[in-house]
Amino acid sequence: MDNISSTDYCAVIIVGAGIAGLAAANTLASNGIHFIIVEAQDNVGGRVKTIVSSDNIAVDLGAQFVHGEKNNKVYELCTTLDCLVDDEDESDEFFLTSKHKQVDSELAKEVWDIREKVLDKARKVKNTKKLFGDFLRENYQKEMLSTVDDADTRQAFVQWLLKIEVEDNGCQSLNDINLTEFGVFETLDGDYMRPLKNSFQPFLDYLLSMIPTNQLRLNSEVTKVEYLANKHLSIIEVIDRVNGCSKKLSCDHIIWTTSIGHLKDNFSQIFGTENKLIEQKQSAIENFGFGTVNKVVLIYPTPMNFWPNNVAGIYLLELPSAPVKLSRDQLSFLATHEVDPQKAQCIMDAIVYVCPSAAFRTVSFSIAGQAALFVEEMSEMVLCRLCHGILCHYLEITNEDKNQPICALK
Ligand SMILES: Cc1cc2nc3c(=O)[nH]c(=O)nc-3n(C[C@H](O)[C@H](O)[C@H](O)COP(=O)(O)OP(=O)(O)OC[C@H]3O[C@@H](n4cnc5c(N)ncnc54)[C@H](O)[C@@H]3O)c2cc1C
Repeated sequence: MDNISSTDYCAVIIVGAGIAGLAAANTLASNGIHFIIVEAQDNVGGRVKTIVSSDNIAVDLGAQFVHGEKNNKVYELCTTLDCLVDDEDESDEFFLTSKHKQVDSELAKEVWDIREKVLDKARKVKNTKKLFGDFLRENYQKEMLSTVDDADTRQAFVQWLLKIEVEDNGCQSLNDINLTEFGVFETLDGDYMRPLKNSFQPFLDYLLSMIPTNQLRLNSEVTKVEYLANKHLSIIEVIDRVNGCSKKLSCDHIIWTTSIGHLKDNFSQIFGTENKLIEQKQSAIENFGFGTVNKVVLIYPTPMNFWPNNVAGIYLLELPSAPVKLSRDQLSFLATHEVDPQKAQCIMDAIVYVCPSAAFRTVSFSIAGQAALFVEEMSEMVLCRLCHGILCHYLEITNEDKNQPICALK
């Protein structure tokens, strides 16, 4: 640890080149502070990940929308870069039931108002032992009674609202969220789901363009950090993930941007000798929830002729009287591929919203909670079949062959 040559030193090391790391690098660059940014993967962006399919379609596998406008740096930069879909280009969204009926728009509006009302109430709760999921369920049930006459539709909406909250909060279960802390989370004003014209790539490219290439180290995973109190220096051990060689870098400051999930698994090992730091942060890291959200994107060979005109997204409302179950064909397909049908059903049940992008040749499915973990186990071929099956059910696509996706990406 003592043979640190001067070339291995810089003022600040940023760990992780996701959006947080890139933004930190930009701030340091514009203030003339020397830094190096080290990233474990062979690309920047982290959970903002655009990939280009073999037939040149840009697909965002991670972040896809800009949430909120007021005081939102992402929104400001995307506006400057002109990469947001124009306000007036935005089209409708609607609820579609598993019996293939579109929910009346007035009723849909009342349901959105109920959601806002109940979430507002949740933000104000103090001193309670009640669990967040239980609170939402009780309040949604109560509010829905006077709004939705039909018990089947009412129950479907309550379930839908609970599932969308799992996705919005990126949690494994709603009861993992502390009800009294819910109000701490700030939702920025303005359009909450603004899509991008093509993808997040121009945004990433812009941030990257501000960083000199020799200050970015890809394929470099930080495995150990130690503080040399006598020299006021931090020493960082980095493994090159291509050749397996390790290297040490020294710095005055570290900006750490890896996810809580990564820290939960690696914190005490990476900072193994820093007892005081571990003492300070360990319980915060343990107590932080960290769930999984995954996305599956289907790519179709031509613009989807089955997708309704001017519709930006469809909310899928599964009625208790018409549950969407795996078909006999799907079950035998899963058996051939040795996939547990219960896990497949769990994925289908978790899908509550589908939206198209890329000139109507792709549809994306966000999957959160336990189902998101199952997505990680399954092949893209299996996911393709499951997700396309959902679309076939809700949109009553009968001639499946004509509308088969080329592939799924996850
Ligand atoms: C499927 C999905 C959809 C989403 N949709 C949206 C959306 O529409 N809009 C929105 O605003 N947000 C969305 N999000 C959330 C958003 O993507 C994240 O909040 C954001 O990208 C987090 O950025 P970050 O830089 O904090 O972390 P990350 O993106 O996780 O970056 C951390 C980086 O650190 C690197 N790293 C980890 N360990 C090490 C190590 N030991 N050494 C070096 N590097 C390391 C990782 O490889 C990674 O690149 C979505 C997330 C997911 C998963």
